[in-house]
Amino acid sequence: MPELPEVQTVVDDLKEKISGAGILDMKTITRSIWRYKYPRKRDIIGATVSNVARRGKFILVYLSNGYVIIVHLGMTGRLTVTPSGSKIEKHTHVVLKFAGFDLHYNDIRRFGFMDLVGADNLAKIPYLHKLGPDPFDIEGDEFISIIKSKNRMIKPLLLDQNVISGLGNIYSDEVLFEARIHPRTISSKMGRKRLANLHAASLAVLRDAIKARGSSISNYVDGSGVKGLYQNSHRVYGREGEPCEKCGARIKREIIGSRSAHFCPRCQR
Ligand SMILES: [Zn+2]
Repeated sequence: MPELPEVQTVVDDLKEKISGAGILDMKTITRSIWRYKYPRKRDIIGATVSNVARRGKFILVYLSNGYVIIVHLGMTGRLTVTPSGSKIEKHTHVVLKFAGFDLHYNDIRRFGFMDLVGADNLAKIPYLHKLGPDPFDIEGDEFISIIKSKNRMIKPLLLDQNVISGLGNIYSDEVLFEARIHPRTISSKMGRKRLANLHAASLAVLRDAIKARGSSISNYVDGSGVKGLYQNSHRVYGREGEPCEKCGARIKREIIGSRSAHFCPRCQR
């Protein structure tokens, strides 16, 4: 599932490729991909893309007419720029047409969605409004007080988008390994120093993953349809039974808070 680094990679690609471009036409193949409200074509066609940004795992495509197209990639969403008139692949739900290229939204499992909202209403959209801050947008002190104020196991807490946004199953595992924290550790009992380390580890892991253009685990690709490379740098995620690169102990996988957690039982305490 695309997490912060994958979504940021797509956002950076789209910013470069579609900013300033005018939307000439829109074709919706699957109406229900517009989960909340089917948009009026006239609110999209004719507008120019003014910016592309990220909020948590959401992609925000700002239009010159005051609307914003929101895209959530769900589990298997792909948002890719292709030459004009490219074949519409199976599971492509929406095509936006520009001069010289098209933007395809493809999603096999359809956990993702698209939405069109007025930029003025953005803050009131429930699924955006309730999001916790991005690790990049807060200082260590704020991160520490957010985590300490909860009384939950750290792994499911990091996955909760309403507490801290952007981390999913891959990066929560990798960040906890980097910070040497056991995924079952109770957040309220963690010392300030460990939490400062956790914040620093989050930033370091996420930055490295963005540099590697994300992790292609299932079918994630960037805005040009190219796979990321960070899956080659995973140290615990998807490595159950393999030796820990720091200490040689076998990486464990356990279900914690209904999600699987990968960790080193020796390094992470
Ligand atoms: Zn280890």
